[in-house]
Amino acid sequence: MKITRITIHALHAPITNTFFYSQGYYPGRDAVLVELHTDEGLAGWGQCSGAPTTTPAVIECQYAPRLLGKDPRDWNVHWHALGGLRGGHYGIVSGLEMALLDLAGKAAGLPIYKLLGGAVRDRVKVYATGLYKLERWTSFEAWREGLIEEALGYRDEGFSLCKLKIGFVPVKDAQLVHAVREAIGPEMGLAVDANCAWDAATAIQVGKAIESAHIAWYEEPLPPTNLEGYREVRRAVAIPVSGGEGLGGLYAFRDMIQTRSVDIIQPDIIICGGFSAMQRIQVLADANHVRLLPHCWGSALSLAASLHFLATIPDGAPSITPTEPLLEFDRSDNPLRENLLVEPLRQQGGYLPVPQGPGLGVEIDSDSLTRFRVAKVMAQVGG
Ligand SMILES: [Mg+2]
Repeated sequence: MKITRITIHALHAPITNTFFYSQGYYPGRDAVLVELHTDEGLAGWGQCSGAPTTTPAVIECQYAPRLLGKDPRDWNVHWHALGGLRGGHYGIVSGLEMALLDLAGKAAGLPIYKLLGGAVRDRVKVYATGLYKLERWTSFEAWREGLIEEALGYRDEGFSLCKLKIGFVPVKDAQLVHAVREAIGPEMGLAVDANCAWDAATAIQVGKAIESAHIAWYEEPLPPTNLEGYREVRRAVAIPVSGGEGLGGLYAFRDMIQTRSVDIIQPDIIICGGFSAMQRIQVLADANHVRLLPHCWGSALSLAASLHFLATIPDGAPSITPTEPLLEFDRSDNPLRENLLVEPLRQQGGYLPVPQGPGLGVEIDSDSLTRFRVAKVMAQVGG
């Protein structure tokens, strides 16, 4: 089997509720998908990370020619050759490797988790990421009440944990955290995410102000370039500190994990370098007693890929109530998650089922693809 042609789909979906986080706002959602065609009629899909305006050109010029004529079943060979371990655009390699594995699975008639060694579960526990600041909440009171209503909705849907976006104004952030905790009660998990907004002193100040709200983890209080600052926050605040969602390549994760800068490492399967990178990061985290809690904030394809990976990861330390892996399930407005597949991935009682079909086990909805495609940057390489 040989790859004969590569189609790059740059997608954009406008959304109705513009929302803010500490670094900006989202009036729509983007994705870059790759579709690898073969001489046997099979096609494999993957999602890359990167801007839809520039990423297709990099794939077209730098990466696609190196895959044409190759057998997708040698996916790990190609991962190394494309720079999955060291160097390169990890977000692009991630998506290409996903498409190679989708093809390898389809060729074998097996789901990706089987190619990785088999699944230890057929559903994955997920938590709700939402609780952003919506543009339409024009007063602090509307913001607070809106967050409370949304958090209670997650509790009613059966989620055991939800994550609140902070990183705006420290005093108000702390008030919002306590308001949400008070509303949802003591049983439901609550995590917070500052998206790299602060320096160590501010992060410690906020961390201390929210400790009593029983926070499950304190995500990206600082930029990942400030590892010493992460360690200062860890020492000063009695909340597990997490980070790493934007990192690519094994060595960036090594630096964060081995310096004990975080309690929880959060690689994203379409940013870090793909399945092969995730497997290596998980080993690194295990060996250093750091918890792995993958980030996932892309289209339905990155969600499906994350489910296959987490299906293969055993529970945590032996116990009569062992900790099972947990996956981020973005609940913000995203048509590329809700409408991209013929059968969307739906949570039930705080779990998502692991797709069981060959490859990624999902089918792209061609009408949605057409609807969201940004025609001017779509590219085709090969015959
Ligand atoms: Mg985050």
